[in-house]
Amino acid sequence: MIRCNLHTHTDRSDGICSAEHVVIAALEKGFRTLGFSDHSHTPWLEQYTLPSDIGPYILGNLELAARYRDRIEIVCGIENEFDSWQDDERLQYRIGSRHCLPIGDGHFLIDETPELLEQGINDRYGGSGAAAAADYYRLLASDVSRHRPEIIGHFDLIRKFNRSSRFFDENGTAYRRAALEAAEAAGSTGGIFEINTSNIARKRRHIFYPADFILRFILEHGYPVIIGSDAHDPSLLSGGFSEAVLRLWDIGFRSVTVWKNGCFRQEDLAEHLINHG
Ligand SMILES: [Zn+2]
Ligand SMILES: [Zn+2]
Repeated sequence: MIRCNLHTHTDRSDGICSAEHVVIAALEKGFRTLGFSDHSHTPWLEQYTLPSDIGPYILGNLELAARYRDRIEIVCGIENEFDSWQDDERLQYRIGSRHCLPIGDGHFLIDETPELLEQGINDRYGGSGAAAAADYYRLLASDVSRHRPEIIGHFDLIRKFNRSSRFFDENGTAYRRAALEAAEAAGSTGGIFEINTSNIARKRRHIFYPADFILRFILEHGYPVIIGSDAHDPSLLSGGFSEAVLRLWDIGFRSVTVWKNGCFRQEDLAEHLINHG
């Protein structure tokens, strides 16, 4: 199985447990690598995100990394909101994510509740979910080109509440073209696409981000992929990983990215397929 997860949250942003508690859970699950990626400071979401001074967060991660280095490799990352980007040379990787769309001088969340999304679509896009999705991908393409995160988080998060095409048609030509244009712009930066298993782990909808048609495009273009569970609860650290390995294999991927001994590496997906579960 995959024993590396670089997308995790702690109580320093919106996770439920302390960082050390997450380390202990990762050890119990046999992980070799654990990356912390709490949410970058976001002024309009302060209660869910890191403070503007991320120094103590980084030092806390480095201290844990030193204390547990004989048992697990702890990596210091961040999940950066594209519209509230933070950086520090001590960060070992950045997950670039868009959870909001701009409206006026502010933002609205696309992944909090269907009601908030609907309100935003009504107020900003005149009720057109298709226009919101197109704008999301247009922004994402420029976000990734501008900030060049090492990992591109939950690429098509805009469809989180789009069950039964409630807001836009995921099979429509315009939607697919917008998504794939953004995927090409993002992939050409060398960023690693995250296969985000959070919906599977939390038993919400049986979907990964990104959708299969985007994964096929990623495969055709040879862009790298990494599996992350986006765990806010350490009991879900490896939630959905076996399913993600199988999905990648079925689509045709034969390698997957992991972090090992200080850097990203490609591993043979078959090894993880054999040992999954
Ligand atoms: Zn996220
Ligand atoms: Zn996250």
